[in-house]
Amino acid sequence: MFINREKQYDEKENSEEYDKVVKQREIERKIRKQKTTRNALKAAGDDEGVREYGRKIKETTAQLNAYCEKNGLTVRMDRTEVYGYKDESMKKKPINFVKTVPPIGSGSQYRKYELDTENPVTITRNKEIQAYRVTTSVNNIYISSDAHVKPKQLHQIDKKVSEVYDLIGAKDAENKPEIFIISGGEMSKAAVATYNPVSNRLFITDSVAIYKKSEMPDFMSTFACGDDDRSSYVHELFHWKDAEEYRRKKGTITDENRKAYFEWADIKGKKSLDKAEKKGYNIDNLSVYGSDSYYQGKYSEAHTEYLTQKLLGR
Ligand SMILES: [Zn+2]
Repeated sequence: MFINREKQYDEKENSEEYDKVVKQREIERKIRKQKTTRNALKAAGDDEGVREYGRKIKETTAQLNAYCEKNGLTVRMDRTEVYGYKDESMKKKPINFVKTVPPIGSGSQYRKYELDTENPVTITRNKEIQAYRVTTSVNNIYISSDAHVKPKQLHQIDKKVSEVYDLIGAKDAENKPEIFIISGGEMSKAAVATYNPVSNRLFITDSVAIYKKSEMPDFMSTFACGDDDRSSYVHELFHWKDAEEYRRKKGTITDENRKAYFEWADIKGKKSLDKAEKKGYNIDNLSVYGSDSYYQGKYSEAHTEYLTQKLLGR
C-alpha cells in the first residue's frame, strides 16, 4: 500500500513537472511568434509596429523569466531565437546566395562536373523546379537550375553523403533516395531540407548542402547538432530509413496512404522515446526543434532529432 501511494505521488509530481515545461514551451513559442511578426513589420517598414512588438517581446521575455524562476526551471533563451531577429548583442551573417560561377582558367584542381542536360527532371514544389542529374558523382545527386554549386563543393557534398550513409549503416543499402540540391527560394517555407517518402527524394538547399559556417542561418542552432555540416543529411536519411522499414513491412508509400505512414512513424518514434526516457533520457535535452515537435505530438520528428543527436554526439 505504502509503495503504491508513493508511486502515485511520484506520478503526480512527474505530470506536474511535465505541465510546467509545456507551459514554458508555450511562452517560448509566443516569443518566437512575436519576433517573427516584428521581422515582418520591419521588412514592411512599419516602424510603429516594430516598436509595439519590441515592447511585447520585452514583456513576454520578462514573463518567461518570472515563470521559470517561480517554478525552478532553467531559462533557455536559445529557444526563443528566430531567423532574422537580431538582438543587438548577437551578430551572425544571414544566408547568402552568391552566384558561384567558377572563374575561367582559375586552375581549379576540380574538374567541372557533368549534368545530364538531355533529361531534365521537373518537380512541382511551391513552384516548378527543373533539375539535372549529376553524371560524375558517386551518389545519386541532382542539381536544380537555380542552385549554385561549385565543382569543388559538389565533390565535397558527394563525399559527405557517402560518409553519412556509412555512419547510419546504409553503405550498401538499396533504394537510396535521389538527392536534390535546390535553391533557398525553391524550398518551401523556412525548411533547409526535407525527405519525401512517396517519391523517395531528399531535398536540401544549396547553402546547407555546402555548409559554410559563416552563411548558416541562426535557426540551424535549433536543430540537433546544427553546427555539424552532416546533421541535415543525417536527419533526412533517418526519415528515409524509416520509410524503407515501412516499405519492407507494409508495402509502397503512396499519396493515398502517406498519412498512415506518418502515423506509423509517429507511433514508432514515441515508443522509442518512451524507452529512452525509461533509461533516464530527458526529453528536454532534445534540440529546440526536437522538443517542440515532441510537445506537439510530432514524435517521428522528435525521434529523428534524438537519433541525430545520438549519432553525432552531444
Ligand atoms: Zn524531419
